[in-house]
Amino acid sequence: MPVAGPAMGDAVTQMLAAKDILFHPGRQVQSIDAARRELVFTDGNREPFDFLAAVPPHRAPAVLRSSGLTSEAGWILVDKRTLKTRYENVYAIGDATTIILANGKPLPKAGTFAHAQAEVVAGQIAAAVRGELVEAEFDGAGYCWLEAGGGAAGFTSGQFYAEPNPIVPLPRAGRLWHLGKVMFERYWLGEGVTRQAMRLGMNAGAKAFGISARV
Ligand SMILES: Cc1cc2nc3c(=O)[nH]c(=O)nc-3n(C[C@H](O)[C@H](O)[C@H](O)COP(=O)(O)OP(=O)(O)OC[C@H]3O[C@@H](n4cnc5c(N)ncnc54)[C@H](O)[C@@H]3O)c2cc1C
Repeated sequence: MPVAGPAMGDAVTQMLAAKDILFHPGRQVQSIDAARRELVFTDGNREPFDFLAAVPPHRAPAVLRSSGLTSEAGWILVDKRTLKTRYENVYAIGDATTIILANGKPLPKAGTFAHAQAEVVAGQIAAAVRGELVEAEFDGAGYCWLEAGGGAAGFTSGQFYAEPNPIVPLPRAGRLWHLGKVMFERYWLGEGVTRQAMRLGMNAGAKAFGISARV
């Protein structure tokens, strides 16, 4: 996790090692030999698999790339706080955008940011329609859980707009944080009273543990 710094990378690597999960950083998959169930790396080495869950290369949809909104790198450049594109009254959020941080690395593509950015843009559009002053800005704050198995999870929340580097504390791990993850899922997937109860519970927990993130 280069953007969050080496200490975070070490912590996650240790969590993997504790579960006997092999980690092969810096190796690029060239192709997949489905018949032999093997990954083929660019250095010619092969690695067998039973079940493969692979994330294909990230790129914006063709409709965006042909729209003139994207930069040469293929992503939409936006103002880091307002999410405005270079076109008037056009905003962009989430994975299709790119925001370069103070350390020169891009803001990670994560749902936590897409969610916060959506609320900022919705607030901006609503304020513009009402002719009100726009106050909401995206502040680069985000959080995430790391499923650890055995009923435990790691949790961290960070400030990615901090300078010169993002401030992302090492994950706190345990069963309590897994409970937070379950509540978060029920908040996202739930409706009505359940959703509101999860929101209240999580925000109370965040306050109790001194976490600035709110849902
Ligand atoms: C395996 C995996 C694990 C992840 N885990 C986490 C995590 O733990 N925490 C976290 O914060 N983030 C996580 N993410 C990242 C998170 O899922 C994304 O950052 C987030 O979904 C981005 O939201 P988005 O709305 O920008 O894009 P998307 O969720 O990709 O939504 C874009 C939508 O546009 C639709 N679309 C595309 N082209 C067109 C078109 N031409 N016309 C109409 N619709 C179109 C797509 O079908 C899609 O529904 C994970 C991602 C992956 C792949």
